[in-house]
Amino acid sequence: MASHTFDNSYARLPDRFYARLPPTPVAAPRLIKLNRPLAHQLGLDPDMLASPEGVDMLAGNRVAEGSEPIALAYAGHQFGNFVPQLGDGRAILLGEVVDLGGVRRDIQLKGAGPTPFSRRGDGRAALGPVLREYIISEAMAALGIPTTRSLAAVLTGDPVYRETVLPGAVLTRVASSHIRVGTFQFFAARSDTEGLKLLADHVIARHYPDASTYKELYERVIARQAELVAKWLLVGFIHGVMNTDNVSIAGETIDYGPCAFMDAFNPATVFSSIDQYGRYAYGKQPEIAGWNMARFGETLLPLLSEDREAALAQANEALSTFSDRFSTAWQAGLGRKIGLFTEREGDAELTQALLKILTDHGTDYTLAFRRLGEGDARGLFEEPADFDAWSARWRERLALEPQDEAARRAAMRLANPAYIPRNHRVEAAITAAVEHEDFTPFEELNAVLAKPFEEQPAFAAYAEPPGPEQRVFRTFCGT
Ligand code: AMP
Ligand code: MG
Repeated sequence: MASHTFDNSYARLPDRFYARLPPTPVAAPRLIKLNRPLAHQLGLDPDMLASPEGVDMLAGNRVAEGSEPIALAYAGHQFGNFVPQLGDGRAILLGEVVDLGGVRRDIQLKGAGPTPFSRRGDGRAALGPVLREYIISEAMAALGIPTTRSLAAVLTGDPVYRETVLPGAVLTRVASSHIRVGTFQFFAARSDTEGLKLLADHVIARHYPDASTYKELYERVIARQAELVAKWLLVGFIHGVMNTDNVSIAGETIDYGPCAFMDAFNPATVFSSIDQYGRYAYGKQPEIAGWNMARFGETLLPLLSEDREAALAQANEALSTFSDRFSTAWQAGLGRKIGLFTEREGDAELTQALLKILTDHGTDYTLAFRRLGEGDARGLFEEPADFDAWSARWRERLALEPQDEAARRAAMRLANPAYIPRNHRVEAAITAAVEHEDFTPFEELNAVLAKPFEEQPAFAAYAEPPGPEQRVFRTFCGT
């Protein structure tokens, strides 16, 4: 990476926004995975990154010219409790590059050693969670869902100590920015209105250049968040830790910890071992995203107006758009999933009725919609009566659509993935890598998930739900 590669706008903000420090070197960097297409998109040379020098950079053993490493300060509500100081405890932002599409992207090492924000943590990441984030974030990107990306994964050669001793690893994460709702909360909690304004202006310039007021900024963030959560629900994604420090202001999915994709459809599904009360269950995500947006709005009050009442009125007006934005995006997406090109009264009821049947029968969500498009969903039901009755109504509704059968099927294939990162596959890939240093299942899984909407006959098994003995009930945090 040459010095002109980087243009570090966040590092030009005042000192209290971050701590300056380099990554802590590791014993024996070894490249596990390099995302060559992404490197290319970022204007970086994949061969350089794969060279010993490049791998040293990806491990944190060498700071590239032009990089100004910083750990960002932020706060956040964790499971509803406000923590005034969190911050990058194990991540270090190397800098920003402008990609081939003209988009500014952060390049960050996750697991790069302790920072002033580490609290009691070691600043490191274990191989398992690094591979998990790599697989799922790249799968989300292939599914067309806004997300941070994974540029590389390296082994450090150092052990990390969790419940057991595990191999250490570093993930290179790429994001439109790492600014979170919690970043705004950091300044709001300190009554640092000047800092807030600098941050908000930075965000407008970087992510929402068409927002001409802070209220418009708020509305735009709300819109992206509502659309993002609708997209999650449409593919059965459960984030698992929707704390305000894990909510990207740019509207990308960020912080892949105990996240997972639902197999059998049920809105109450929870995987995260730390989510005891189901706060972040699949079906609660819209409500929680709205709650997070309310917390964001609170931080903006001093910028909205000097008059507290007027500021509150503006914030509430903006916040009230969340629920409609979400419902519109969710309903439109569900309509596409059952092959509708137009919208009519009764569509919402029709799609909800199907979801109810899937819940009642414990049917696999992804497979049900994919098969629906292929005309063979019926076989998924041991007792198909409910489905048959629904299917008759669906046929009647389809008859009102202008498109022919072939066009509908093609559209449904693009709305309903065949391949999602199913838990049992993710776990199997991680286990092979961690326990046997066998990265073949990891590679194969990534390859399949790169084309989620295409039939891949050789890998048809990846479309199957887990058998009873393969089911995964709990996922664990990345810490
Ligand atoms: P997360 O649950 O991954 O979103 O992290 C919540 C907070 O804990 C963030 O401030 C992280 O930087 C911090 N954190 C998580 N794991 C570690 C670790 N191993 N060492 C230091 N800080 C950590
Ligand atoms: Mg986090």
